[in-house]
Amino acid sequence: AQSLRMIVWMDGRTMPDSEARVPITTHAIHYGTSAFEGVRAYAAGGDLLVFRLADHLARLRRSARTYGLEYGYDDSQLAGAVLEVCRANGLRADSYVRPFCFAGEHGIKLDVSGARVVTAVMAFEMGEIYPRGGITACVSSWAKFSDRSTPTQAKMGGNYLNSAMAAAEARRAGCDEAILLDMSGNVSEASGENVFVARGGRLFTPPASPALEGITRDTVLRLAAEAGIPASVSDIPRSALYSADEVFLTGTATGIVPVLSVDGVRPGGGPLCGKIAGMYSELVAGRGGHPEWLTAVYRP
Ligand code: PMP
Repeated sequence: AQSLRMIVWMDGRTMPDSEARVPITTHAIHYGTSAFEGVRAYAAGGDLLVFRLADHLARLRRSARTYGLEYGYDDSQLAGAVLEVCRANGLRADSYVRPFCFAGEHGIKLDVSGARVVTAVMAFEMGEIYPRGGITACVSSWAKFSDRSTPTQAKMGGNYLNSAMAAAEARRAGCDEAILLDMSGNVSEASGENVFVARGGRLFTPPASPALEGITRDTVLRLAAEAGIPASVSDIPRSALYSADEVFLTGTATGIVPVLSVDGVRPGGGPLCGKIAGMYSELVAGRGGHPEWLTAVYRP
């Protein structure tokens, strides 16, 4: 959201973003003590369908709880806020929704358990952020942080300093995305997406931790099972990226993105990424089953 003018929701009411202000003493600004979600809403059949909203709101609560942050809204109130913000902005095209919460004024102490929490939602139109045809990736010299340092499954603002360094390094090397290895040197995930590798008609993805247990990753594992494509969660050595038939990334913002090369090495090729991407497009447009994953904005 560059300098978008939009209606946002903060602590119980909607307002123009210019009114949603916080003081410079806000804890999260100093220490990254915010929990956030990225959610997609897709234009379909004259409505806007929010994908797996309940799962995103559940993860937001788990992230906050990990740090002892509690917000005073239950998931149905937050879901209501998401729909309200989409409607207030008149969103009709594919959009991105960002529910988040953060430690407000809490002095300089580091333990935020019990801190005053600010809760907010913003939403704006956003089309595809990567070309459909695919992207190039580089293996990063930055390792994905370990759960021994910082909880990997809590999606906190501060975690993304690791991703920011990796993404900047990849960009300087002329790549679109970074793939980070874990502390043992196995493949973990991209700066903001999970990684899948296809080999011999099977799909593989690294374990959730240090990689984030992505909701799109889970969706892909479910779609693969439904399509009879064998898929497993297993350690993936770095070298498997260079001998793979296919490599692709999965994430809410980006969807299913083929990786055209890793460190300049092109995967052999295969049908699985295209097949999964096709199923995913149908799914988020409401034509692929799983009505329990879709929430309509305008005719709930
Ligand atoms: N890994 C990281 C580091 C991410 O930021 C994201 C985006 N939330 C993902 C993976 C993908 O997760 P999801 O499919 O839930 O968006």
